Amino acid sequence: MNESCNFCGNKNFQDKNIQYIYRRSEQFLIANDVPCVQCEYCGEQYFRADILKKIEKEVNEIYSLKKKIKREISVPVEHYIELQPA
Ligand SMILES: [Zn+2]
Repeated sequence: MNESCNFCGNKNFQDKNIQYIYRRSEQFLIANDVPCVQCEYCGEQYFRADILKKIEKEVNEIYSLKKKIKREISVPVEHYIELQPA
């Protein structure tokens, strides 16, 4: 990537593999080790379009086509109003 960051204008980026959390309404997918470039100044992450498409395709296969997944975690869900005071 030889552009500047959309948020801070910095031109230095680092290649990274990160944990990407995809969400579309109630459908979630955690994808580990997803390649991105990260702005060295503000930390904003940029993903290639083909990588995001691949993740979307995977989400579609899991939720619509019932593709078998390798690993699943359960995630607690709370309403803020019901939380105990700190
Ligand atoms: Zn930046």
